[in-house]
Amino acid sequence: MVFRITPGYLKPQALSKMYLSAADHRIPLSDGNSIPIIGLGTFSEPKLTPKGMCVASVKTAIDVGFRHFDGAYVYQNEHEVGEAIREKMAEGKVRREDIFYCGKLWTTHHDPEMVRPSLERTLRVLQLDYVDLYIIELPMAFKPGDEPYPKDENGKYLYHKTNLCATWEVECHPYFTQSKLLKFCQQHDIVLVAYSPLGTSRNPFWVNVSSPPLLKDPLLNSLGKKYNKTAAQVVLRFNIQRGVVVIPKSFNPERIKENFQIFDFSLTKEEMNDIEALNKNVRFVEMLMWCDHPEYPFHEEY
Ligand code: NDP
Repeated sequence: MVFRITPGYLKPQALSKMYLSAADHRIPLSDGNSIPIIGLGTFSEPKLTPKGMCVASVKTAIDVGFRHFDGAYVYQNEHEVGEAIREKMAEGKVRREDIFYCGKLWTTHHDPEMVRPSLERTLRVLQLDYVDLYIIELPMAFKPGDEPYPKDENGKYLYHKTNLCATWEVECHPYFTQSKLLKFCQQHDIVLVAYSPLGTSRNPFWVNVSSPPLLKDPLLNSLGKKYNKTAAQVVLRFNIQRGVVVIPKSFNPERIKENFQIFDFSLTKEEMNDIEALNKNVRFVEMLMWCDHPEYPFHEEY
């Protein structure tokens, strides 16, 4: 069983040796493991997502070449992710060691004695023997228990105090380029994983929709035209070209395929700089409903 709650560490020479091809796009980590630079995000609003859609999407993703899957118990579809991976293993399409699965510890299970049982529950749900990475989903603890979003009788979220000692994933895309954090990570040989790399699904419950849609950006679209690519492919290419892992979510077969076709073109240095200059320092994922939590992370500059 592999249990890592810290981010992976990038070997100093790794970036210069990165191949970035569809068949070989893993970043080596200093513990001897490696992480594919593109993964499939699997969060989809449970109430709006038909049963089985996640299984089908993960299977399509494996067929088109994805080997990294970003999931979580709280997404309520982890069993479907596991089912798809196991089916593809049974077909002989992939071996377990070809797959990189990242699971997450939910906020109501931060107490140290709850961590191992939570991971074990994830393994039972996936019906796999290990996960490749296990991270703290949010750095804010909620009242321990089985209710994922605990509230009091007045509808106020019930928070909880814990001693947080790990880092978590960071939103990152051309409107929120995270240059300072990326520089820090590169200096300390840490791999950065970008969630919401396409600018989210724009669900107003948890997304700041006052920021314009990323994929409508004129520069990204004109670069797309130049390379016969979509704005989404340009956005993903921008991040992988600077060594940032991306985990775009799509449950649409055409878009899953599209999001993987980013290894057959490259952006010039000038274009990389132009995209970097789109930075607005605005987060799509602000989670303002929890901004009164004492550990709310987004008051910090990073
Ligand atoms: P993304 O930035 O990946 O965007 C997903 C949205 O973009 C969906 O609505 C999807 O729709 C659409 N889309 C996908 N591909 C394309 C394309 N080629 N062209 C146009 N639209 C496209 O958002 P997420 O916020 O879902 O982030 C990705 C993943 O990161 C999550 O699924 C989750 O796994 C992880 N995450 C983790 C967090 C944490 O741990 N704290 C927080 C937030 C995200 P469709 O499916 O119809 O294609």
